[in-house]
Amino acid sequence: MPHYTPLIGTIVAGLVLAFIMGALAHRLRISPIAGYLFAGVMVGPFTPGFVADAELAAELAELGVILLMFGVGLHFSLKDLLSVRKIALPGAIVQIAVATLMGVGLATTLGWTIVAGIFFGLALSVASTVVLLRGLQARQLIETERGRIAVGWLIVEDLAMVLALVLLPPIAAILSDQTGGGTELLLRSFGEVALKVTGFVVLMTVVGRRLIPWALHWVVHTGSRELFRLAVLSIALGVAFGAAFVFDVSFALGAFVAGMILGETQLSRRAAEETLPLRDAFAVLFFVSVGMLFDPRVVAEQPIPLLATVTIIVLGKSIAAFAIVKAFGYPRQTALTVSVSLAQIGEFSFILATLGTELGVLPAEGRDLILAGAIISILLNPLLFSMISRNHTHTDASHAAEPAVQRTVEAALLVGYGRVGQLVAAKVRNRGGSLVIIEEQPDVAKRAIRDGFEVIIGNATDPATLERADIDRATILMIAIPEGYEGGVIAERARILCPKLPIIARAHSDEEVANLEARGVHHVVMGEREIANKMAALTSMQVDRLQEARA
Ligand code: AMP
Repeated sequence: MPHYTPLIGTIVAGLVLAFIMGALAHRLRISPIAGYLFAGVMVGPFTPGFVADAELAAELAELGVILLMFGVGLHFSLKDLLSVRKIALPGAIVQIAVATLMGVGLATTLGWTIVAGIFFGLALSVASTVVLLRGLQARQLIETERGRIAVGWLIVEDLAMVLALVLLPPIAAILSDQTGGGTELLLRSFGEVALKVTGFVVLMTVVGRRLIPWALHWVVHTGSRELFRLAVLSIALGVAFGAAFVFDVSFALGAFVAGMILGETQLSRRAAEETLPLRDAFAVLFFVSVGMLFDPRVVAEQPIPLLATVTIIVLGKSIAAFAIVKAFGYPRQTALTVSVSLAQIGEFSFILATLGTELGVLPAEGRDLILAGAIISILLNPLLFSMISRNHTHTDASHAAEPAVQRTVEAALLVGYGRVGQLVAAKVRNRGGSLVIIEEQPDVAKRAIRDGFEVIIGNATDPATLERADIDRATILMIAIPEGYEGGVIAERARILCPKLPIIARAHSDEEVANLEARGVHHVVMGEREIANKMAALTSMQVDRLQEARA
């Protein structure tokens, strides 16, 4: 290679390998996250072959965390958090305490110091936002009560970790050197943190809350989509960076608050859409960078401590969470979902582990155990979810189970409740027809439910979703999503299930029309062509009118 290009090398190797491994994981029907982590191990320093730059990878991963937290903020509503605060606040605190105690127990058994144990235990106590959100999203649980409790719980954990990250260094210093004056120092650091966080939040709620929506509205009116995208990214990254730089709060907290403020505006859906592709790419790099840190030798050399670590993460924390949620009188399924979604560790744990080793209080083997525990718990997480959901179909009626039992009449099937889908749905209803809607975005689906439709939440390219919507009873399939090629995939799968079903789909180009027709769509409506026809018709009407007036 003519130039030394570590940044490009790291991004390219990370993304390409993550793609290959993610595709492999998809084929093997395991979580793509496992594939990304494995890709990281492959480009990491502990395996032969190409070694990516770990420091650069860690910074790229941080971008992923910022964009993810921004997304969480966008969808977060204070009302939702308040509605679960009674359980999320004590729950998270008790769970952190339990996990930390267990971590200290294990650490002292291994002959480490108490401070090492605190770092270790705290690292095991906080779940990964990325894994939790992906886990909940994949099962359409974000909008449910259990999902809200889990997310609220996680936010409390994150806030606690933000505090821990700032407080741990002085605590470590005080506990390791015995010169005295400890309490005073501790109080001062605590006061400083409280002041900084308050300062940031106040600035954002007073100034940011006015300035940010105003700036975005201005950008929208310029009509430039590119500028809008840039504005959203500038806000997400700028606020996160500024918060870290000026107020010393974590990137994650800064991005979260920025997202929350944007989420209050009407533009939040567009803002979320605009950051989605970048967010996905950097979230992938996050997992790759975690994989890179992993030294696989720990598995062979420390099997018993590793087993104990995994047990704390997967069992210890879950039992604590389960007991707390049950104690608050929630049903068993809620307690199970909350426990399982929190039974893993991730980004904050890696940050704590790195901080601990840098400060010289956590031994390197502690960091390796945390990483190995994280990878194993992330791999186990989807399995745990599928275990509880198998259970779940027996215990309570989920949206997945409802339609097949209840519906007896034939209905039209509509995919997508967006700009086109909503109009189609309203027209079908006005004519008295019955309709089932498939929509993949939970918040859009919620709107459809509120509008009184029967909705299946899921991606229509998945044959299981089509079956859940009782496609064999459908009279017609209307694919009202803008992506013509994805529509083609849906049509193809639908035809395998019901070869005779009439299908209508939407397209934007001649290529899409040809592709859809080749896949068996009977009528393709091309938006641009219809618009052109209408505009031409209106123009000729106007011309006729003018000519009549002259004659
Ligand atoms: P619009 O772009 O406004 O026409 O909206 C299209 C809608 O279709 C959005 O609400 C998407 O969430 C939804 N959608 C897109 N692809 C799929 C899919 N494969 N399965 C289910 N819903 C989808």
